[in-house]
Amino acid sequence: MKLAVVGATGEVGRTFLKVLEERNFPVDELYLFASEKSEGTELSFKGEKIRVRAINKEVSFKGIDIALFSAGSGISREFAPKFAKDGAVVVDNSSAWRLDPDVPLVVPEVNPEDIEKHKGIIANPNCSTIQMVVALKPIYDAVGIEAIVVATYQSVSGAGAKAIKELEEQTKAWCEGREMEIKNLPRRIAFNVIPQIDVFTENGYTKEEMKMLNETRKIMHDPEIKVSATTVRVPVFYGHSEAISVKLKNPLEPEEAKSILRKARGVVLVEDDYPVPIDVAGRDEVFVGRIRKDLVFEPGLSMWVVADNIRKGAATNAVQIAELLIKC
Ligand code: NAP
Repeated sequence: MKLAVVGATGEVGRTFLKVLEERNFPVDELYLFASEKSEGTELSFKGEKIRVRAINKEVSFKGIDIALFSAGSGISREFAPKFAKDGAVVVDNSSAWRLDPDVPLVVPEVNPEDIEKHKGIIANPNCSTIQMVVALKPIYDAVGIEAIVVATYQSVSGAGAKAIKELEEQTKAWCEGREMEIKNLPRRIAFNVIPQIDVFTENGYTKEEMKMLNETRKIMHDPEIKVSATTVRVPVFYGHSEAISVKLKNPLEPEEAKSILRKARGVVLVEDDYPVPIDVAGRDEVFVGRIRKDLVFEPGLSMWVVADNIRKGAATNAVQIAELLIKC
């Protein structure tokens, strides 16, 4: 197994290495790529130091079996087809290929069978979509879901290493009475919340919000399902939370939903308490709590869903896809 990680020095890239190690993914040779600026940086994998190389047109990708990409859409658009042409299967974390009809969009707990349709590229969904569909698919299968209304509380790590630094720096500056600098996020994030993730589209929703609609439809194979999302950045380092209300097609009591989710793959049902991001950071499962009857939708349910956006929302989901690939 010759494996490549593109974007290895980033938040998701470094977590790929951790998750591959933890899950004992069979790797014989590992190739790490990032930008020119990281050329020569060394990263550890299974006790060995591996040199990071800059990705560019001169690099040969021949012989690589699987490539995990997390270096942004531009790099994915340019290099994923080159890896695929040279025989690798690319699992891409960016939004570049997610809605391409020739590219399966896969969450292993929800639509693992879609993997078989790949033509060299498989897309990993958006982090906020992954945790939502893992929590809702078992309910969808049981009684059907007509519509989803969701508000997200997304951590700064969802915007990469620079945004983590920005929250740290602004918090320090605030404590020391200094001016806070805004560099990568649209507004100040320390002691604030920002109701904008990604850019606005023509209908007033952001791209992140439209991803939650379009990706859910593709993953669930349901072009009719309605999703209305408000995505919000909050001053949390790791872990996205979501307040979700669903309009069901057929009635389901909260106790019945709990008994379904207790058995669901990849879900941890939190019953006597509720999940919070600091407890969930570092975990691979999707945590669901506060399941109750919705007071607007009839029949309907409301719930609170939390997951580590860098792990289940990105690296772990991609490694699970790679595991399915080697089983095929
Ligand atoms: P990040 O911490 O900012 O890391 C970005 C990575 O991409 C770094 O390794 C960087 O290398 C590399 N890169 C950037 N420009 C490059 C270029 N021109 N050539 C080669 N490598 C380049 O970001 P991240 O959070 O890991 O996210 C990476 C990707 O995963 C994005 O597409 C993002 O949308 C997606 N994703 C992120 C999350 C999340 O929750 N964070 C979830 C799902 C998907 P250098 O260090 O050399 O600059």
